[in-house]
Amino acid sequence: MRAQIEILATLQKVDREIKEKTGIKQGLLGEIQAKEKEILAKKQEIAEAKAAYAEKDKVRQEKDRLFQEESKKAVERRMRMGRIKNAKELQALQREIDQIKQANSELEEELIKLMEELETVKAGIKAKEEELAKLQEEWTRKRDELQAQISGIDQAVSEAATRRQTIASQLAGDLISRYELIFSRRNGTAVVEVAGGICQGCYMNIPPQLWNEIIKSEKVNLCPSCQRILYYKSNVTQEKPA
Ligand SMILES: [Zn+2]
Repeated sequence: MRAQIEILATLQKVDREIKEKTGIKQGLLGEIQAKEKEILAKKQEIAEAKAAYAEKDKVRQEKDRLFQEESKKAVERRMRMGRIKNAKELQALQREIDQIKQANSELEEELIKLMEELETVKAGIKAKEEELAKLQEEWTRKRDELQAQISGIDQAVSEAATRRQTIASQLAGDLISRYELIFSRRNGTAVVEVAGGICQGCYMNIPPQLWNEIIKSEKVNLCPSCQRILYYKSNVTQEKPA
């Protein structure tokens, strides 16, 4: 059993390597995802600003059309004035012209305000587009870097998996499944050394009776407090704890 557990300890080294590298890869993928989300959000902001611009511009166009129309009316009324001799009719026409003028001066103010607003929206879009371009340019470079890193990790993990297979082929299946269960539950430490009578997984003292069992190493011994598989290095002389 001792040999088996020592092989298991070797397997754990490889599994930890795989676990660590996989964790790093997850982090990098998360970084890529976050950045792409940021870029997408910026694109959406721009699209929304453009839609707001178009909406406002439609209002401006409509008001502009109205302004032109009313201006034409005012000109037409003024021309008509020259042909009217009746004072009452003239007065009425003059009142109409004044009303058109008043309405058009309000329209003109609205148009100026709208055009100013459109300018502001336009400047905002331009600024956002510049931010996006910068973001995308930086990201293209960084992304290549991250992807190269990920490829490197993938290769290392695939090599480790091959090594793992070779090691695992020397172990009994039920021992591996037991180990794997503890490995996942105990955050990557399933097999621990007992040094100086202390479990190196949870740092609790191992009872003397169990210590004897571990030295005999006839079966799989678990730490009574953390449930990890215990072993001691047979090539190192260890003293029995007092
Ligand atoms: Zn323990």
